[in-house]
Amino acid sequence: MLKTLTNKLSQEMIKIVGKENVLYSEEEIYTYSTDSTNIINPNEKADIVVFALNKEQVSKIIKYANANLIPIIARAAGTNLCGACLPKSGGIIIDFSRMNRIIEINKDNLYCIVEPGVVVEDLQKAVEEQDLFYPPDPSNLKVSMIGGSIGLSSGGPHTFKYGSTKDFIINLEVVLSDGTIIHTGSSCSKDVTGYNMTQLFVGSEGTLGIITQATIRLIPKPEAKRVMLAYFDTLEDTSRTVNDIISNLITPSVIDLMDKNTLKTIESFYPSGLLTDKTAALLIEIDGFKSALDEQYEKIINICTQNNSSYIQTAKTKEEEEKIWIARRSSFGATAKLAPNVVTEDVVVPRNNIVKLVKGIWEICNKYELKTCIMGHIGDGNIHPNIALDLRNTQEKENFKKAKTELFELALSLNGRLSGEHGIGCEKSYFINKALDPNTLEYMKKIKKIFDPKNILNPKKIFQENL
Ligand SMILES: Cc1cc2nc3c(=O)[nH]c(=O)nc-3n(C[C@H](O)[C@H](O)[C@H](O)COP(=O)(O)OP(=O)(O)OC[C@H]3O[C@@H](n4cnc5c(N)ncnc54)[C@H](O)[C@@H]3O)c2cc1C
Repeated sequence: MLKTLTNKLSQEMIKIVGKENVLYSEEEIYTYSTDSTNIINPNEKADIVVFALNKEQVSKIIKYANANLIPIIARAAGTNLCGACLPKSGGIIIDFSRMNRIIEINKDNLYCIVEPGVVVEDLQKAVEEQDLFYPPDPSNLKVSMIGGSIGLSSGGPHTFKYGSTKDFIINLEVVLSDGTIIHTGSSCSKDVTGYNMTQLFVGSEGTLGIITQATIRLIPKPEAKRVMLAYFDTLEDTSRTVNDIISNLITPSVIDLMDKNTLKTIESFYPSGLLTDKTAALLIEIDGFKSALDEQYEKIINICTQNNSSYIQTAKTKEEEEKIWIARRSSFGATAKLAPNVVTEDVVVPRNNIVKLVKGIWEICNKYELKTCIMGHIGDGNIHPNIALDLRNTQEKENFKKAKTELFELALSLNGRLSGEHGIGCEKSYFINKALDPNTLEYMKKIKKIFDPKNILNPKKIFQENL
């Protein structure tokens, strides 16, 4: 059923962005009621979806929303895993996919300036053509966008050596909740002129301001890389290997874990030559100057062998490297084939607690009869249980809810946190009071009130209640 375009909100939005940049039919609006979180509530839908083309339009939309107390939800590719851009209280969704220009790649100053709708992989390819490198690489980088990456401070396998999105944002252009446009920081490589406003917006999930442009740090592209997969029969050996590599002062560009279930599941749906009778495998990548890699490579192989690695598969060609990477990136898709739904969790603990965390997750999932494939960025202590289930089944849904709470309790008991890179959104907001001390939480809420006194920016995210 089509809504008519006669209502006031539609007319105002068309005035700002033009009819071709507005979606209003029931069907179109419905597709914006979900993200990659498996949540869809037919009662929680946007009133309208608007494609913004520039900052002036964003400012006008927000001014109108502010005057009329209408929620604003920024949306990039909508692939987040925590319900971070769901229209919980209706409102205007600003879709940034048409603001997707790479404005400048500045090789002299090692930065680029981009709009929020640029797809992460497109940016990586564009800078690599100039021998530059943008490392943050969420596994779905073929679709996820820079605006969403900044909104969640996304990470990925290369975070271990290079850091996550937050470490690459130099400055931002932001539209505030009353439509004011501000610029945080400058393009200088050093700048302590006042507060560091940039970092306040990174990871703020569109709750403090809407980003319309970002200046992003680039680094020289590493000359060469080497990739290997080392298999282990125990988690203890796996974890000790990681610690030994690090304490030998080697910093791999990637050190990721796949557990036994992940190996089996990938292999059954995307046969890639993975061994399926091992407890765990480490995907290790090193990069840098070609001349420095051989020594590191040999050292890593020795460390794996000393820690009882039962098999080490080394990639000898680009094709073999690619094959290992495709297998690793298939873990989510393969798990999704086990059941109608897959939910990816994202807890983080200090690295020395990783064995307790992984074993604890296996126990919780066994207790609640949930199929889980555990993988993640073991070097960062950041683990993703991919849980396959049928959310239409009331019992499974109930079991999952209990398991999720126990998972968060486990992470906190191991000095960990609720999220390493996927954010809080509305999925984990029910637990944030337990994860932060009351004073810190109170000051976070005060910050939200200063930037968004009418609570129009992405309401009911991070904090459960309307602030
Ligand atoms: C298969 C799969 C694999 C993934 N792998 C990883 C991974 O390896 N590492 C990782 O960190 N994450 C991963 N993710 C989750 C990750 O959070 C997202 O994929 C990605 O970073 C979000 O980008 P997006 O463009 O979809 O953002 P969206 O989901 O559209 O938005 C994310 C948040 O940013 C806000 N936002 C969007 N645009 C703006 C803007 N212009 N201004 C202000 N706020 C804005 C939104 O309101 C929302 O709160 C994965 C997800 C999937 C489905």
